[in-house]
Amino acid sequence: MIKTNHDYQNLQGSYLFSTIAKKVAAYGESHPDRAGQVIRLGIGDVTQPIAPSIIRAMHEAVDEMADAATFKGYAPDLGYEFLRSAIADEYKSRGCSIAADEVFVSDGAKCDSGNIQEIFSRDAKIAVCDPVYPVYVDSNVMAGRSGKWDPARQCYENFIYMPCTEENGFAPELPEQEPDVIYLCFPNNPTGATASKSQLQEWVDYANKIHAVILYDAAYEAYISEPDVPHSIYECDGARTCAIEIRSFSKNAGFTGVRLGFTVIPKELKDADGITLHSLWARRHGTKYNGAPYIIQKAGLAVYSPEGQKEIREQVAYYMNNAKIIYDGLKKAGYSVSGGVNAPYIWLKTPDGMTSWDFFDDLLERLNIVGTPGSGFGPHGEGYFRLTAFGSYEKTKEAVDRIIAGRI
Ligand code: PLP
Repeated sequence: MIKTNHDYQNLQGSYLFSTIAKKVAAYGESHPDRAGQVIRLGIGDVTQPIAPSIIRAMHEAVDEMADAATFKGYAPDLGYEFLRSAIADEYKSRGCSIAADEVFVSDGAKCDSGNIQEIFSRDAKIAVCDPVYPVYVDSNVMAGRSGKWDPARQCYENFIYMPCTEENGFAPELPEQEPDVIYLCFPNNPTGATASKSQLQEWVDYANKIHAVILYDAAYEAYISEPDVPHSIYECDGARTCAIEIRSFSKNAGFTGVRLGFTVIPKELKDADGITLHSLWARRHGTKYNGAPYIIQKAGLAVYSPEGQKEIREQVAYYMNNAKIIYDGLKKAGYSVSGGVNAPYIWLKTPDGMTSWDFFDDLLERLNIVGTPGSGFGPHGEGYFRLTAFGSYEKTKEAVDRIIAGRI
């Protein structure tokens, strides 16, 4: 008898982007004359090519593979020392004390944020924002940590949802029920919201007090433009005893297709029995992961060079100029808008109480623009819509002009 773990079939988030793709394809088939005019501001994928100095580093690493003296086989499963040290130095430059051997290099933040739950017990209570990047909930449900499905709340009993609404500035409040694991993501996908240093400090103090762990997803750290917004949770006092931080090279350096990320676990972070989470993740990572490729880790190192830094800052500025165009244009058209200042995502309220999906259909059919329905990120995303700044300047401008001209 084949017995499967099919709990996660009840999850809607995983279907979000395939549903969007199907709807856009169906629209293209039924309107062949307009298919070419569709502008996609839905998926959070970059469009700018990888910066020249990083490409050069990749080529050099490829050439090393052709020479027996410099050839590399399996990479160390936790990452090459050269990259881990560069990452630790970057933390130091922000006043955070992180040692190179507290950095675990990986193939990206999606895998790390999806896999890290493996080190926690089955009955751990999980707090997540609502709306939320779907990987956090889905990966816990897939691991069998969900508890029973609660049809009234439309969620599993082991989850604590923390609503992020207009009223709280899309930043979650401390939950009433005590969690064991808290997922936070700032700058946030999908809302583009950030936490100030004092807000984040409150979370760190709370986690230390109740002895919970914060899984801090800082995939969009490079997009922060305001001085009071922390780039790392380790800028907060006491974070070394309660926080794991996950980062990515995808959005800051265009590695979405190249794949590189890392997770930081300070050695002071221990479970109730005094076992370090660092040792648990090292064991798990070493068992299931054979290391990010040397060529890609060399490319990652080039990101930290002065030239690499200059080039990637220009790319981020390019996307953030798009974000400003979207933000200002939507405001001009009379929408209620947030995000877009420290993040490449713009979060808008659908007009006249339209549902997120009705607004999606309307935008696609009337203006040929694709965005992402907020309800796909959680119940409190209903009535909201996400647009991304990762398109080209020209297409972004054209989309915004259409929205201003065709305001519902
Ligand atoms: N974390 C968040 C919040 C994201 O939005 C994304 C991608 O969209 C990721 C992680 C995935 O990053 P990566 O490309 O490194 O897997």
